[in-house]
Amino acid sequence: MAESVSSGVYLEQVNQVGLQITQIGEQVLRESAHQLSREEIVSAKIQELIEHMRETMRNAPGVGLAAPQVGIPLQVAVIEDREEYHKKLTPGQLSERQRQPIPFHVIVNPRIISADNTGLEFFEGCLSVAGYSAIVPRARAVTVEYLDEHAESKRVEAVGWYARILQHEIDHLDGVLYVDRMRTSTFTTLENLERFWKDLPTPDVLAKLKSGLGNRGPYV
Ligand code: ZN
Repeated sequence: MAESVSSGVYLEQVNQVGLQITQIGEQVLRESAHQLSREEIVSAKIQELIEHMRETMRNAPGVGLAAPQVGIPLQVAVIEDREEYHKKLTPGQLSERQRQPIPFHVIVNPRIISADNTGLEFFEGCLSVAGYSAIVPRARAVTVEYLDEHAESKRVEAVGWYARILQHEIDHLDGVLYVDRMRTSTFTTLENLERFWKDLPTPDVLAKLKSGLGNRGPYV
């Protein structure tokens, strides 16, 4: 995996980490985040940033958070899918999403090195597009290489919901949001998702809301 040394300017910005999650319309969400060197990853500043991101993600709560969402344009994201988040879903919904608990972990400088071209389409949301959701096609499986919080090289082959989380977070590090990939006419407030759509299978939702795709196309 390529590694480049980011300028100290970006590391300095860690001092200005946001207390609130950045919302769509803020430029940092549309920038390409900068890679970190191994030395930078193990620095106190980045370790503090990771700790802050973990707390922010858990408080939200969310299953993933990328550094641009706390205002920092660096290639760091945290992921954790806890069993307690699955209570609202039926066993059938969990199984069609291939959703299982994922322990907390940190991904730095991640790269998708291969993606399964089978698409899966489900409603997805983002802490930076608060209050909304839409059906987003994602690759069913991805292989990702990254560095962990100790700057050690890792490779993961992820399927289902975990693969979706990885694609969503890695998009953040490229300045891409799910609204760029969503089926546009399925875009809904969370309130209306609860009222009308959440229990319908995706093909039924798509049939009722004839929908095109955002300009990024479906997959990674
Ligand atoms: Zn997001």
